[in-house]
Order: sequence, then structure tokens, then C-alpha cells
Amino acid sequence: MDDRATNDPSAVIEADRAHVWHHLLQHKPYETVDPRIMVEGRGMRVWDITGKEHLDAVSGGVWTVNVGFGRTEIADAVRDQLVTMNYWAGAQGTVPAARFAERLIEKMPGLSRVYFGSSGSEANEKAFKMVRQISAKHHGGRKSKILYRDRDYHGTTIACLSAGGQKERNAQYGPFVPEFVAVPHCLEYRAQEGLAGEDYGVRAAEEIEKVILREGPETVGALCLEPITAGGGIIVPPRGYWEKVQEICRKYEILLHIDEVVCGMGRTGRWFGYEQFGVQPDIVTLAKGVASGYAAISACVTTEAVFEMFKDDTDPLGYFRDISTFGGCTGGPAAALANMDIIEREDLCGNSARTGAYFGEQLHALADRQPLIGDVRGIGLFQGIELVADRRTKEPLDERQVMAAVADCLKQGVIVGATNRSVPGYNNTILFAPALIAGQGEIDEIVGAVEGALSRLP
Ligand code: PLP
Repeated sequence: MDDRATNDPSAVIEADRAHVWHHLLQHKPYETVDPRIMVEGRGMRVWDITGKEHLDAVSGGVWTVNVGFGRTEIADAVRDQLVTMNYWAGAQGTVPAARFAERLIEKMPGLSRVYFGSSGSEANEKAFKMVRQISAKHHGGRKSKILYRDRDYHGTTIACLSAGGQKERNAQYGPFVPEFVAVPHCLEYRAQEGLAGEDYGVRAAEEIEKVILREGPETVGALCLEPITAGGGIIVPPRGYWEKVQEICRKYEILLHIDEVVCGMGRTGRWFGYEQFGVQPDIVTLAKGVASGYAAISACVTTEAVFEMFKDDTDPLGYFRDISTFGGCTGGPAAALANMDIIEREDLCGNSARTGAYFGEQLHALADRQPLIGDVRGIGLFQGIELVADRRTKEPLDERQVMAAVADCLKQGVIVGATNRSVPGYNNTILFAPALIAGQGEIDEIVGAVEGALSRLP
């Protein structure tokens, strides 16, 4: 047994097998396969309970550990905070929450208020509740619809699933929350019939306008979009898309809510994904990279105009009547402050942009050698390759083949991701979101593993 494991591995595995119900896992096959329990991490490397070393190309599995593993500086900051003041409810505020909110807002011109939560789903729920309350209070309840995009994901609660564009995730969890309305995706590689062409970006955005006109602009309160669709296949909106989206939202007085749960905190090479497109949101939700997994914290960030709509003290219902026991409590923002210090000091946004550009080049070069790659997409250290059985017809590669490639990479000691298998017909993209500390050496290792895996597919 490797001394990296802090517990007797067979006892841990037995306890896990007997009692842990894992997220998003079909447990049946796991009755005979040992769970892969990670016990230690440093930088981009992690060690599992058997002592095997892995290179992590997905930042802790779900694109969270932006600054990498083993940052004692963050752990120390959390510890110092916890021994001083471990908890106080968010209604009164805490020192690290105030300090982190101030630092965050410095990076988000046009936005001014931070409402804390503890997960991405929770941050999005807050945003949806704000939109509904604005409708109730300021539009006689008429502007309550929330638009979301096909293939986007916003979280796991019933309201977030109602706003989710990966519909297979929803099967069996209905009935859903009414008045969430879908708009079409903007994946150029699989452009909808009649929309393909040079200005696909503008046309895809105009499809949103058609939905708004069909529903009635006076009934639509908000449009909720990921800046770059993450789990739905690393979909980078094409040129012209975001400008048009902004124009449409302004024209119909629809709040623009951008879900930066994945793209925020440097993932794409800027602090926030929306900065890549020069767009100005009304509401931004953040989670994962806010504290890089060193603590659970999320934020729903709004403009002052949104905040102002919740300040009517003549009305007993005139404030945001929402609460979260752990949202913004001390350990989270303390971790977020230390995490932000590291991103700044080590210029991890810059590294994400530079190393991400190299990553993209290497993936394009691989696509030149490997016909199973139909499309390469991404910005910064957020990249994906869509696998096809036939480049000409773009027939998606069978899901079992995609998963075999992912498993082959794992065998080689490189952990990569794949499109959520809940999206039928779209489960053929391999996803990469390594920690923002990645260098060219690690990228070469990841691309080499993928090349080997693809070359071995039957
Ligand atoms: N929004 C996006 C874009 C996500 O990818 C996720 C999770 O993967 C969420 C929201 C939900 O975040 P959480 O799992 O922290 O609730």
C-alpha cells in the first residue's frame, strides 16, 4: 500500500461500496469494479487509493480546481478564518464575504452586488427567483418567462432542470417548473437546417428573437445562457452571436443572465467568459472556480439596477426574501480570496489564454492526422474534440467508442471528460478543462494520450 493513502484502502473501498451513493453513476457495474477514490493531489497530478498516479485534464472531474491541487495557502486561509470565526448567517454578513465581494466586483464593471450561495445550482436558483420576483413586483406578474438554450446546463434542482437544455437529464423528474422556454443551440458544426452559412452566429441569435416574438416580449423576463456551453459539448458561440443577443435583450427589456459557473475565474483566458465577447450581463452566476474546490461557495452577481428593484420598504414583500444557511459563510469567501490572490499573482488567466492557444493548435494538428475528429472547439484551457464515424456525413461516433477512448486515456493515467451522456446523439465529444497552471508539457501528455486512445479504437 502506497503511503499516499491515509486509510487502509480495502476498508475504505468496502465502506464506499456499502454506503456511498455516488453522483451520476449507474451502480450496477460497480458491484464488481473498485471505485476510483482519489486520496491526494498536487498541481495537476492526483493519486488514487491504489497509489496510481493520474494527470488530471478535467480539474477535479467537473472543471473546478482552477488553481490546481495542494494549495496550502488556501487551506491555511480557510483554517485561520475558521478558528477566528467559523460561521455567521448571511443576513448580517461576514468579514471575508465583504472583502471578497469587493474584490470580485472590481473585476466586473457594470455589476455591483454579490448574493452568495454554496453551489452553482443554488446561484442559478437565486437568479431565477430574482427574475420571478421582479416580474411579480414590477410587471404585474406578466414578465415571468425565462429562456434557456438547447444543450446548456444550469444545475440539478427542479428549477435548474426546467431551465436545462439537456433534456435526457430531466426524464422521470417532472413535472417541471412552468414558464421556462427553450431557444435553439448555436453549434455551427451542427448548424440547423437553413441557418448554416457565413453569418450563422447572427442567424442563430435571431432564432432567439423568433422565440421571444412567439411568446410575446412582454412575457419574457430573462434569457439565461452559458457564455460557452460546457457539458453540452464546448460550444463556442460563433462570431456575431453575442452582439446580436445583447441587442435583442436590450430591445425587449429582457435581463441577460450569464451562467459563468464553469467559464468564470479564468477558465477561458479572461476572468469571465462573457468578456471574450464584449457583452454586458445584468446577472452573472459563478461557482466552481470561485474557490477551486477548497470550499463550497457560489455567487449570483447583479447590476445595481437589479438590486434597486428589491429595496421597497413600503411593501412587506419588497425585498429579496431568500436565504441560504451556508451561502457566503466564512470559509467559502476566505478560500475565494486566497484563490483569487493565486490567479492574480501567477497570471493564471494569461496562462490559460497562452497555454490554451497551444492546446487548440495541438488538437487541430491531431485532427489533421486523425479522421475520427470532426471538430475542434474551445477557448483557453477549455477545449473539446467532437468525434465522428464519418467526417463527410458527420455521423457521431458511437457512444461506446467514445467511452472506450476515455477509458483508454484513464488506463494511460490521463483523466479526460466526455459530453454528458444524457444528451442523446450528442454524446460524442471529449472534453478538456485542465487546471489553469497547465504548461505545454502537460498538454503534450494529454494530446498524446488521446492520440494513442483514438488510434487503438477498433
Ligand atoms: N451551471 C453550469 C454551466 C454547470 O456546468 C453546472 C455544473 O456542472 C452548474 C451550473 C451547477 O453547478 P453545481 O453542480 O455546483 O450545482
